[in-house]
Amino acid sequence: SGPLLKVENLTKYYPLGAGILKKRIPVVRAVEDVSFYVEAAETLCIVGESGCGKSTVARLLMRLIEPTSGRVLIDGTDIAGLKKHELRAWRRRMQMVFQDPYSSLNPRLTAGQIITEPVENFERLSRKQRHALAADLLQKVGLAPEIMQRLPTELSGGQRQRLSIARALSLNPSLIILDEAVSALDVSVQAQILNLLMDLQQQMGIAFIFISHDLGVVEHIGRRVAVMYLGRIVELAPCEALFAKPVHPYTEALIAAAPVPDPTRARLDVPVEGEVPSPINPPSGCAFHPRCPLAVERCRMEMPPLVLMADGRVVACHVRAPATYISGQPVEAGDQSLGP
Ligand code: SF4
Ligand code: MG
Repeated sequence: SGPLLKVENLTKYYPLGAGILKKRIPVVRAVEDVSFYVEAAETLCIVGESGCGKSTVARLLMRLIEPTSGRVLIDGTDIAGLKKHELRAWRRRMQMVFQDPYSSLNPRLTAGQIITEPVENFERLSRKQRHALAADLLQKVGLAPEIMQRLPTELSGGQRQRLSIARALSLNPSLIILDEAVSALDVSVQAQILNLLMDLQQQMGIAFIFISHDLGVVEHIGRRVAVMYLGRIVELAPCEALFAKPVHPYTEALIAAAPVPDPTRARLDVPVEGEVPSPINPPSGCAFHPRCPLAVERCRMEMPPLVLMADGRVVACHVRAPATYISGQPVEAGDQSLGP
């Protein structure tokens, strides 16, 4: 029985502007050729700078937007082919938690109403059932039952994010996508929420896709990490291996630029220099080449394929992960590019 979720060559281009002159409408290449899998009860992190396509991947998975091409399979079934009621069932299994609980929680509803609402979209609850469900969910996320009557504005940032998580849990999902879910919180509150998530994963067997620009957070929670740059995955590796020995120069630069909580840990010496190029007109060849200290001539000409390394990670870099060529064609990581 394969992975819970499998993403194959997912691509999303947005036309830019109204395009009165039908032809040559510039497109934003938000996500290109992204492939990965997520097993039941595991955490896959997606990291990268803002604008790298992380949130677009999340929205594609939730089917809030349609892909330009590529497939999303849940338990081996392509969600593009699902009928309306099947899609509803799929939505039930997959929930999302956003960065800003201010904008994602209805300010006019009490905490109890907020967390039972998703269930009530599917079934009618008696007063008693609703109360029991709310009490159970609050308890799961470590909130006191008194919170039930409060409005979101009467809660702290950490409490509001616990509430968002309780709401996501209400339908007993197989997978929760967390998009910068702790980024707005203080560091100490962040750690509490991350620990809560890991406890919930153990108790309930939920898988997470954890999207963040913050490597410190990712190192804390991730089992596998996909690094995105300008719409593409450039490295996908087990968390420990990635932090111990980043292979892609961009991963290395990201880790070097991140604040190091442990000052005894060696810092790498490659700053992330230069601007993030535009996804409207990405650089030729390897999109990282204008910022890459290792760039060679070939990097400007040819897009590096994702190559499977001896230790099981996949990396797209001509210098650090040279591809094997057969008849002039690179041997790509293929299905194994879904990750270690
Ligand atoms: Fe740098 Fe070239 Fe590797 Fe891209 S392919 S990361 S430019 S060395
Ligand atoms: Mg985002």
